[in-house]
Amino acid sequence: IFPGTVSASGRPATLGVMGGGQLGRMFVHAAQRLGYFTAVLDPDPHSPAGLVSHHHVQTDYSDASGLAQLAALSDAVTTEFENVPAGALQTLAGQRPVAPGAAAVAIAQNRIEEKSHFVACAHVSGVSCAPYAVIETPAQLEAVPAELLPGILKTARMGYDGKGQVRVKNAAELAAAWGELKQVPCVLEKLMPLKAECSVIVARGWNGDIVGFAPQRNVHVDGILAVTHAYESNMPAALALRAQAATKSIANHIGYVGVLCVEFFVIDDGSEHGGLIVNEMAPRPHNSGHHTMDACDVSQFDLQVHAMAGLPLPAPRQHSPAIMLNLLGDVWFDPQGQMRTPDWQAVLALPGAHLHLYGKLHARPGRKMGHLNITGADLAGVKATARKAADILG
Ligand code: ADP
Ligand code: MG
Repeated sequence: IFPGTVSASGRPATLGVMGGGQLGRMFVHAAQRLGYFTAVLDPDPHSPAGLVSHHHVQTDYSDASGLAQLAALSDAVTTEFENVPAGALQTLAGQRPVAPGAAAVAIAQNRIEEKSHFVACAHVSGVSCAPYAVIETPAQLEAVPAELLPGILKTARMGYDGKGQVRVKNAAELAAAWGELKQVPCVLEKLMPLKAECSVIVARGWNGDIVGFAPQRNVHVDGILAVTHAYESNMPAALALRAQAATKSIANHIGYVGVLCVEFFVIDDGSEHGGLIVNEMAPRPHNSGHHTMDACDVSQFDLQVHAMAGLPLPAPRQHSPAIMLNLLGDVWFDPQGQMRTPDWQAVLALPGAHLHLYGKLHARPGRKMGHLNITGADLAGVKATARKAADILG
């Protein structure tokens, strides 16, 4: 599907996306820059992507008429959040190319499926996940082996940014936590000794071509990504290569099409650099890949466009070291809890600072409002600028 073309019915080449959040917005921008028209399906009339798209279908994700409208408007459809009902993607796939497909998204939506997938490709990826147990019944709760504790109980579905997770030290806390989570299907994961966290983003095309970015190191605060370090020395080279290879095999194993992000833990296993464990995967561009918009010649959103439309997948080249600072709604409040406007004057005066705001009008603590990419000629300069920016944003 080439941009700037017009179909026999007179419709300009249009790319559709399920979900209208910030990831959808950045996808829309990337698609439009190439000359595509865009269509967004999201019930929220003020959704960040809906506000900037040519078309905005304002229905629920599983609404039959909404899906029909999106299919009629679009030449191909992608998704920007993993909790879109897999059935909706299946419906769309009956009419248009959909990438990633319903099956891949269904795996990423359910930690139980996701972990089975990681286990199934461990022999090719060379990386396993943390020891875990599935808890769907009281009998499974009783049978949890002691060596999984202390651990983290995670709901199988709908968890994100650390939500739907409870840390438990012993069997009694585990039982209480499962009650707190309303006894929905869960996985209990052993608490791992983390040295660091990293993620790898790849894009795979319909023909199986696959390209990717180097791993980035991620720092989370309260379960939410706070800072991404994207430069060569951010982790040992041997681990970086293993993480890249593992991500490609995790994508290849299910014939994935689109952009995939895989999150890893670097754990302290007594070895010099530590061991690598796979944590979870997102069937879409990822918050930890936002630096690619300013530090690479092709961004993760450009690759999402290329992959779904069947365009060539150029190997991305990073031309600058980068640090990404997530801008949560907290930045809009002073220490006394009073609303304020962040000092954009000072931020925008910093050389190499690239501000991305998502068009959300109401700041709330923990809400992802935007991000700030810092790039520069050398790493020391980038780090110094990032420190200044963090001070300004306080
Ligand atoms: P989410 O879907 O909320 O991103 P994750 O499974 O990635 O859920 O967990 C959020 C964060 O919690 C991780 O980034 C990591 O910091 C911490 N965490 C999760 N699982 C473990 C574990 N098994 N051991 C240690 N820390 C963990
Ligand atoms: Mg995570």
